[in-house]
Amino acid sequence: QENASQAGGGIAFYQSGQDETHQRELTIIRDLPEALNSGQLYVVYQPKVELASEQCHSAEALIRWQHPQLGFISPVEFIATAEHSGNISLITQWMLKTVVKQLAAWQADYPTLRIAVNLSAADLLDQNLPQQISTLLQQYQVPATALALEVTESAVMQDTSKVIANLNTLKAMAINLAIDDFGTGQSSLAYLKQLPVNEIKIDRAFVKDIETNSNDALIVNATVKLAHGLGFKVTAEGLENLAGLSYLKESGCDTVQGYFFSKPLATAEFSQWLTNFAATAKQTAELSE
Ligand code: C2E
Ligand code: MG
Ligand code: MG
Ligand code: MG
Repeated sequence: QENASQAGGGIAFYQSGQDETHQRELTIIRDLPEALNSGQLYVVYQPKVELASEQCHSAEALIRWQHPQLGFISPVEFIATAEHSGNISLITQWMLKTVVKQLAAWQADYPTLRIAVNLSAADLLDQNLPQQISTLLQQYQVPATALALEVTESAVMQDTSKVIANLNTLKAMAINLAIDDFGTGQSSLAYLKQLPVNEIKIDRAFVKDIETNSNDALIVNATVKLAHGLGFKVTAEGLENLAGLSYLKESGCDTVQGYFFSKPLATAEFSQWLTNFAATAKQTAELSE
């Protein structure tokens, strides 16, 4: 890297950097199918806490990959690679199946638990998706209300008639639909109002500094008001500090997800967390009676 500013050396470095990136991408594409079947991929669950009741009835499922040679690979990297290489449906199918199976196992202990799976743009264009999900839910005897799907603003803005048709079908099945990372795309709430979705998730960018940045607080307040006016539930993403919590409560935000309540947790840790959280909430309620 020291040579990067020298004539020639800079170019050589740039090229070898590119080669490495390219090689890594090829490795990810090559190893993905195998990883899906060998336990390298797994799901973590991040709780979403309802502010009014101080209870947790939902969580987001996030994929993880521990690669034997490359180590931990961020989903931001391999999801993007899978999207570019046309392999994202492999991941989505695997996630849906893993989460629905897990929901079936959780039905007895947590009958009101709802888990959200992230979809990519290509998933939303696939007209077989609603039927595949319906079959999966039937196969594992899981009610559609236990499943939620998250889609980004930019994903819903492509080829809109196909996307809207899919969202309509999914919503009619009673699956909860959320717009993820709201505020980072180009759409407005007025536009999203035409879409059959239940919830918007305000991006972490507006939440993380809410207690110190008055512009962020203003944006969150206005977004919650408008979203509620249009009939959406609102989740704030990425709350890390207690100080931010009172701002979110004041804004009227319905649900909060973030490290403040919990990082994403492995399956067993998550059900343990749920049990502990419910017990603590009950104790707090009894103390204040
Ligand atoms: P996302 O759907 O917006 O998920 C939220 C991300 O923010 C997660 O990162 C989560 O770990 C992180 N996060 C949550 N609370 C906090 C916080 O308080 N502070 C900070 N710094 N971060 C927080 P993760 O798991 O690395 O996932 C990143 C993105 O990768 C996701 O963003 C989603 O777009 C994508 N992704 C993850 N799993 C899947 C999947 O199964 N399918 C698809 N299509 N995309 C996925
Ligand atoms: Mg998400
Ligand atoms: Mg998000
Ligand atoms: Mg995000």
